[in-house]
Amino acid sequence: MSPPSILIVGSGIAGTTLASFLLLAPISVSQKPHITILERASHPRAQGQNIDIRGAGVAIIRKLGLESVIKANTTGEEGVHFVDDRNRLIAEGPADKTGKVQTGTSDIEILRGTLAEICYRRCLTISHDVKAKGGAGVEFIFGDYLDSITQASPDRVEVHFGKRNETRSYDLVIGADGLQSSTRALVWGAEADRAAVRSLDMYGGFFSMPSGPTDSEWRRWFIAPGRKGVMVRPSGLKDRVTVFMYCINATDQRFSEVAEGGRKSIEAQKALFAEYFADAGWESARLIREMNEAEDFYYSPVAQVKLDEWSKDRVVLLGDAAYCASPISGMGTTLAFTGAHNLAGSLAEHVLSRPEEKRDWETALSQHETLTRPAVEKAQTLPFGGQGIKVLHFETWWAVWIFRTSIWAMANSGVFGLLSKWKGPPANDVKVEAFEFEKVEEFPLS
Ligand SMILES: Cc1cc2nc3c(=O)[nH]c(=O)nc-3n(C[C@H](O)[C@H](O)[C@H](O)COP(=O)(O)OP(=O)(O)OC[C@H]3O[C@@H](n4cnc5c(N)ncnc54)[C@H](O)[C@@H]3O)c2cc1C
Repeated sequence: MSPPSILIVGSGIAGTTLASFLLLAPISVSQKPHITILERASHPRAQGQNIDIRGAGVAIIRKLGLESVIKANTTGEEGVHFVDDRNRLIAEGPADKTGKVQTGTSDIEILRGTLAEICYRRCLTISHDVKAKGGAGVEFIFGDYLDSITQASPDRVEVHFGKRNETRSYDLVIGADGLQSSTRALVWGAEADRAAVRSLDMYGGFFSMPSGPTDSEWRRWFIAPGRKGVMVRPSGLKDRVTVFMYCINATDQRFSEVAEGGRKSIEAQKALFAEYFADAGWESARLIREMNEAEDFYYSPVAQVKLDEWSKDRVVLLGDAAYCASPISGMGTTLAFTGAHNLAGSLAEHVLSRPEEKRDWETALSQHETLTRPAVEKAQTLPFGGQGIKVLHFETWWAVWIFRTSIWAMANSGVFGLLSKWKGPPANDVKVEAFEFEKVEEFPLS
């Protein structure tokens, strides 16, 4: 019996987590799948700023032996301070460190780059263990991409690697290549791909910069007129903070045009933010200066992905590629973990543990979807019908002033805490399925 061959496109959070769980399926080493992970970047991409792991996500990192190392690498954010243009505190929303109440700051806040690196290294150690016992483990291919994906026969997918000009075929291809997934575009088609990505008319720039005297363990959130804002947040390092600058804008086409160029358009992306923040007040001069210097600047439209089906024959999408809930949901990483766990568990149950003639790929893929969809639907239901973020942002100084006065009043009357309980991210409602995987040792702290 030959073990299945699986190609995972994207070595992000979802991709490496899926590979780790597939290799931890409770089966003999000769049954373990042959996994290839293809990453477009030329090296493991340890980039990106603050993200949260909540509820179900915490239970899943525990299964991978990652709880201690992740908790040792958090940013230590205490909560949110809304500030005005003179940096005066308007309102405060503290984190609930017990994780019982999901507020804007979760109990585990970590930099995306740090988490991606931990997940990659965990996957490597699990793969090494499997290889040491005679299994195939994971083959990583960096710096390449697919330019075609074809369902060559009912049970075989043929792919072509653009750079190395090589054709290979797999039993299953998984697109874990993020919000702008090219697996989705190649297999679902350009029109369906465009329809799947629902813009929230918001565009963000993420980067880090040296800490200054006004920075602390609290996230400072400054909302400016012209429907834009900035969050400056702790990074976990005393001498650096992270920045999320954003504009809510449905009319200036340049925001979506500069996104299409990806990293090739980085100068145009920075120039656009510099233009919009030139008159925003507060610490904008510092932010523009540091953004222009930043080497880790990352630009992204804020959007959700909605698809009726996450799989087509033997191609399945996972994480942001299938069901991005957007950074404002606070749930993207938790959903990436949950989906990877459900997909690996379903494949272990219906495919990996069975002899070749009894493998039931269709049931595995549909079970993964049935288990994961309820969590995705909750996470994608943003406050005020998705208009929540727009409701908080205004065009004129007067409207911003009225907004600041309202949140000051809400914070002083305790309404803020109530809002967190009512409208916080729904991570504690996400079910963690009872799939059995092999136990792994806790990942070392260094
Ligand atoms: C560089 C980067 C920075 C980010 N920064 C933030 C942030 O600061 N805040 C935030 O809230 N969210 C950020 N995100 C998104 C966040 O990581 C995801 O929302 C969440 O963790 C779900 O993870 P995912 O694995 O589904 O997707 P992602 O984490 O986006 O991972 C997708 C992976 O696929 C790779 N990839 C993309 N296209 C291809 C291709 N054609 N072929 C091969 N590989 C490909 C990417 O390089 C990446 O490694 C960032 C994502 C990336 C890639």
